[in-house]
Amino acid sequence: PYNGPTVDEIMAKRKAYLSPSLFHLYKKPLNVVDGKRQYLFDDEGRRYLDGFGGIATVGCGHCHPDVVEAIVNQTKRLQHSTVLYLNSAIADFAEALASKLPSDLNVVLFTNSGTEANELALMMAKLYTGSHDIISLRNGYHGNAAGTMGATGQSVWKYNVVQSGTHHALNPDPYRGVFGSDGEKYAKDVQDLIEYGTSGNVAAFVSETIQGVGGIVELAPGYLPPVYSSIKKAGGLCIADEVQAGFARTGSHFWSFEAQGVTPDIVTMAKGIGNGIPLGAVVTTPEIAKVLTRRNYFNTFGGNPVCTAAGLAVLRVIEKENLQENAHVVGSYLKDRLTALKNKYEIIGDVRGRGFMLGVELVTDRQQKTPAKAETAHVLDQMKELGVLIGRGGIYSNVFRITPPLCFTKEDADFLVDAMDYSVSKT
Ligand code: PMP
Repeated sequence: PYNGPTVDEIMAKRKAYLSPSLFHLYKKPLNVVDGKRQYLFDDEGRRYLDGFGGIATVGCGHCHPDVVEAIVNQTKRLQHSTVLYLNSAIADFAEALASKLPSDLNVVLFTNSGTEANELALMMAKLYTGSHDIISLRNGYHGNAAGTMGATGQSVWKYNVVQSGTHHALNPDPYRGVFGSDGEKYAKDVQDLIEYGTSGNVAAFVSETIQGVGGIVELAPGYLPPVYSSIKKAGGLCIADEVQAGFARTGSHFWSFEAQGVTPDIVTMAKGIGNGIPLGAVVTTPEIAKVLTRRNYFNTFGGNPVCTAAGLAVLRVIEKENLQENAHVVGSYLKDRLTALKNKYEIIGDVRGRGFMLGVELVTDRQQKTPAKAETAHVLDQMKELGVLIGRGGIYSNVFRITPPLCFTKEDADFLVDAMDYSVSKT
């Protein structure tokens, strides 16, 4: 049983001592105290099915025993900075991680977060190319530090950050974009940005392949190949942000960029990599990585022994338990059932995504695509009351984000959809 402070006591302390910008998902906030695989438990012992753990990095499920054991064992033995001394954990994990990427991408630089990984990737691209301009996508999310906030393409996540040299291209959004699912037409906008908005040379193009925070938008098919070729011609590097969609989540592939048949110059990752432990990474080629030898580069805890021991355990669990296959099979089933709901309710305007990265967009008018923001918040709350947690996103906050732990079962998928069916029927 839980003997800790109540929701009201925690809320009072949050108010007094934590950032005024902190938010929580529900009208009545949830105090989660335990986690086990695809379940979370609140302070009264009530069980919730976690359909949104993916945002908090959960790949193999909350508190997976193999991952916990790896963390505890390494913590008992040694936790220290990454640099200065040798330690086998970091080297073993780097080797295992590199084996999951195309063969030229075999140098791994560890960080503590997705933001740090993207900042490092952008800096390396600028150093390598000698150029300054960055092209990213409208509706993308890349982090909350200077460069990454600049590259992020959603006003709700931007403060008054200096964005010089950052250009936001038309989003190849099959549902709301002007060219529908025609990836090649959107790609022309990147070429135009290069020609009209830069000297003709750029440092990098950075994008997710399925936008997470932006409301699960899968880039229109055929988009990345022509964009990558325009960027290469302009002397730039292509960065794939796999922070949310990587690590087997999309089911069909281990990395989401693979679905577009491209090979990036730099891949960034975080979230799923450590199953909840703060860890991020940049993976690139030896030639590009060499730019960091021009000066000293240091990150105290990026890739420390405890986090990399966790990362190696996560990779092994994904393989041992066939979690990529599970994301593919159960994710496809879940998407089919959600699509059937769309045929039942006018308010569901779109169902999209891949594997365990699915989105359901609510609109009050299918023709106008008017965001049903209040209804989205209401259904989210109702589903919580029924014991199912899902997320919300998109610039209008009208998209359900379904990103469960990779161990989610078919029965879990049924329960989630049944809860959504009932809740939407009451809107
Ligand atoms: N890139 C993407 C695609 C993300 O979804 C996020 C986090 N939502 C980040 C980067 C930033 O990661 P972090 O919060 O670990 O800094």
